[in-house]
Amino acid sequence: EEAVSKNFIEQEIEKDLAEGVYDHVCTRFPPEPNGYLHIGHAKSILLNYGLAQKYNGTFHMRFDDTNPTKEKTEFVESIKADIKWLGADWGDHLYFASDYFDQMYEYAIKLIKKGKAYVCDLTADQIREYRGTLTEPGKDSPYRDRSVEENLELFENMRAGKYADGEKVLRAKIDMASPNINMRDPILYRVARMTHHNTGDKWCIYPMYDFAHPIEDAIEGITHSICTLEFEDHRPLYDWVVRECEFANPPRQIEFAKLYLTNVVTGKRYIKKLVEDKIVDGWDDPRLVSIAALRRRGFTPESIKMFVDLCGVSKAQSSVDYAMLEYCIREDLKLKRARMMAVLDPIKLVIDNYPEGQIEYLDAPNNLENEELGSRQLPFGRELYIEREDFMEEPPKKYFRLFPGNEVRLMNAYFVTCTGFEKDEDGNVTVVHCTYDPETKSGSGFTGRKVKGTIHWVEASTALPATVRLYENLIDEEKGVYNKEDGSLNLNPNSLTEKEIFVESNFADAKAYESFQFVRQGYFCVDSHDSSKEHLVFNRIVSLKSSFKL
Ligand code: ATP
Ligand code: MG
Ligand code: MG
Repeated sequence: EEAVSKNFIEQEIEKDLAEGVYDHVCTRFPPEPNGYLHIGHAKSILLNYGLAQKYNGTFHMRFDDTNPTKEKTEFVESIKADIKWLGADWGDHLYFASDYFDQMYEYAIKLIKKGKAYVCDLTADQIREYRGTLTEPGKDSPYRDRSVEENLELFENMRAGKYADGEKVLRAKIDMASPNINMRDPILYRVARMTHHNTGDKWCIYPMYDFAHPIEDAIEGITHSICTLEFEDHRPLYDWVVRECEFANPPRQIEFAKLYLTNVVTGKRYIKKLVEDKIVDGWDDPRLVSIAALRRRGFTPESIKMFVDLCGVSKAQSSVDYAMLEYCIREDLKLKRARMMAVLDPIKLVIDNYPEGQIEYLDAPNNLENEELGSRQLPFGRELYIEREDFMEEPPKKYFRLFPGNEVRLMNAYFVTCTGFEKDEDGNVTVVHCTYDPETKSGSGFTGRKVKGTIHWVEASTALPATVRLYENLIDEEKGVYNKEDGSLNLNPNSLTEKEIFVESNFADAKAYESFQFVRQGYFCVDSHDSSKEHLVFNRIVSLKSSFKL
């Protein structure tokens, strides 16, 4: 049996199961519904879902909607769609943190009664001042020793709306001298008049993240609450909350390093500006790495899973190259997709000895490495489109494609020999002439002679005009993501190129999100916004070649 190494979270979980700390595994993905999910979130989703699956456990989807200012219902739907698309199935386990507001309030009262929380009248600035620094302990608030009765009354008044926003807060009573600043009497509740998308105006006090999150996890029976590294020094507070609230079998928090991609824009603020400045076409522009953008570009859930698995799970912050994501989509599509004909920079090829007006249908295998994909009928005739770069008037050494006198194979069709060409006034080649040899039909078993070059083509009278979008990185990689002077983005002016192309007639029924290999050109996906039956639009997912090595 192959030894499969386990990541450190799996090791922790297995230890917990072996020691009987938990008898099952329950994980969750807890996004704030305040934006679109990106590739980093995909890592967290697939990690949490994967762990639940691996240990026959349960995976919860929970909207962490305790901070009403930034949240929007619109995002709830997009987040659900993205997670479903990735294949993480939460079954009946869809939750909203705001559904626990009543319980959170009760836990706050419990803490007050235990003498573990107090109402504090210091202003935000004073609280900061009293909190101390890394090298200096904090000072106790003058309100720290209020009686339980007084605290209960004041907290009730906070809830009843008797104070202005920010006038009073509820704080945990922990240790103002703790070396961990998060433990210096952190705020649990604040007064804030905000309409919540779920609870409306029912509440004018809202719990802070560090108080709400462990309670949400504990209420749901989460066992392993997996989060990113920046919460590592909040863990003592997480443990304090679940302990003081007296949850039986409380969850434990485990941190891992965020996924970062090199030279990729993920910050919401920056993407918002790119959208507003119309540099990108929305949050799902195929040059972005939101999950919606990756889907639109033509990435598959399988390719993203492969990518996340390759990145691994660790405690060390690092950044992964976009080329690895490209490697994963190539690997995923190479045996799954048909290899079809499209000419991206067309010039005419006229076969002068082929009967005028005749169209024959040639059998073309869809994928030479995967016979299961079958074959299709490819129209062939006297006039074709070929790539401009597949003809040269004066070829350099080792150029095996078309030039006067040279013979090549037209892929899936015949050998043709170049007999001449036409140019326009500017000296650009417009038409290439050739003759074909009927004996050399592909699949006929012809062995009479060999040619060194094979080129692709599309029959002109049946070809469909289409638009193709070729992408480069949005960021100028030489300069890095941010401008050192003003913090703006270093944009690559060539990140999008649109071309009018011809594709074979078999694309007639291509639907949004369907993807194909265009022979020699890469993998392409039908654009979900702009493509129509009348005029197809394709996004290049990735070219075929890469210098990336695993
Ligand atoms: P962003 O600001 O990029 O949207 P966030 O932290 O605000 O990120 P949340 O909605 O709070 O996003 O995150 C939901 C979950 O996704 C959290 O558990 C968080 O740790 C995880 N997550 C966010 N970004 C990454 C990342 N780059 N890599 C791995 N996990 C991430
Ligand atoms: Mg977020
Ligand atoms: Mg967050």
